[in-house]
Amino acid sequence: MTVRLDGGQVVADAYPTAATNLRCRESGTEYELEARYVCDVSFGPLEVAYDTDEIAARVSRERIAEGPQNIWRYRDFLPCAPEDPTVGLPTGLTPLVYAPRLAYELGLGEVWVKNDTANPTHSFKDRVVSVAIQKAKELGFETVACASTGNLANSVAAHAAARGLESYVFVPADLEPQKIIATGVYGTNLMAVDGNYDDVNRLCMQIADERDWAFVNVNLRPYYSEGSKTLAYEVAEQLGWELPDRCVVPIASGSLYTKLHRGFRDLIETGLVETEVPTLDGAQAEGCGPVAEAFAHGRDFVAPVRPQTIAKSLAIGNPADGAYALDTASATGGSITAVTDEEIVRGIELLARTTGIFTETAGGVTTAVLTKLAERGEIDASERVVIYITGDGLKTLDAVADQVRPNAIDPTLESFESFAATAV
Ligand SMILES: *Cc1c(COP(=O)(O)O)cnc(C)c1O
Repeated sequence: MTVRLDGGQVVADAYPTAATNLRCRESGTEYELEARYVCDVSFGPLEVAYDTDEIAARVSRERIAEGPQNIWRYRDFLPCAPEDPTVGLPTGLTPLVYAPRLAYELGLGEVWVKNDTANPTHSFKDRVVSVAIQKAKELGFETVACASTGNLANSVAAHAAARGLESYVFVPADLEPQKIIATGVYGTNLMAVDGNYDDVNRLCMQIADERDWAFVNVNLRPYYSEGSKTLAYEVAEQLGWELPDRCVVPIASGSLYTKLHRGFRDLIETGLVETEVPTLDGAQAEGCGPVAEAFAHGRDFVAPVRPQTIAKSLAIGNPADGAYALDTASATGGSITAVTDEEIVRGIELLARTTGIFTETAGGVTTAVLTKLAERGEIDASERVVIYITGDGLKTLDAVADQVRPNAIDPTLESFESFAATAV
């Protein structure tokens, strides 16, 4: 073990990464691997660049199979990792669940559910936070922070606790109570902001300029977003190093959706798989669907909206990677579709009743979009489809509370029998 404690903080040596620089997506300007997210020249977003020959020389199916039982098994593709992979909260290797009853109900051939509710804080955010917190440690930060629609706050508070970092998490004050409680319990500084997510994000950008803090989705965003690629690698490995034909993926800022695309391309470019990139379909709520709206009108830019939906974890009105999400849809032959709050609730119920998996509203969006694509006849019966379920239903109980009606009886056999006689 190379883990040490220093003043209560967990310190671990860094794994040697193949990342070389930060690079601007617009101007190509390069920067050191520091806490920076925007280009001084073009104001475009920065991304991690790698020595791809080095990655190709290192990776193999065998090396991955022998790796740790968490996301660090894919560390050769990541911008940072601890030398000792047991450091922190183990994240990833969540189940890929075969869903024949869901497929049957929708008239589809082969459907799988990537159940990312099985992460330490019950959402996919643990993947991006693991990577960002590791980078924060490597850069010597003592305080981590985030602007969050809920799940990110949950995850930052927990991972900071595990590694002994101070944390500040900023959320809209009207968040689901389950998410507020499940965040505050970790001993974080929980800031409930009187505003929506876009207000919270603007505030955090201002604070990031003033304080020497690692904001996981602001100044560490280039590293943070790389964690999403593990959802591509994992599904490929779980399918025996084959790729699905199609994936349905929720979109908030568009980071997960665009990085899945990157992750699938990494696998092809390094020869780990031989097939083509899957068709990637994006899923949004109608009450906050700026990317779906741009897609429907064939625009190459995203016009901000004011969110009004029960899918609060996806309620980003001004998505940072919205335009790149449109590129991913067109490059993979996919679509971006929005669904109503009512369809979201029916999506949650459909998934629960056919697979036994209870998702939060974001997964209701994804399942409802799958339903819509199936009804429109856009999915061929020969296709292998994966839907990404990114958060747990226990986090948004209010969304389905009205749907559940227990049958009240007395504690007597007669009472039960008279209920059973009237039940169909
Ligand atoms: C954050 C989040 C997403 C996707 O977010 P992006 O900003 O698009 O990467 C999807 N589902 C849930 C439950 C989330 O919390």
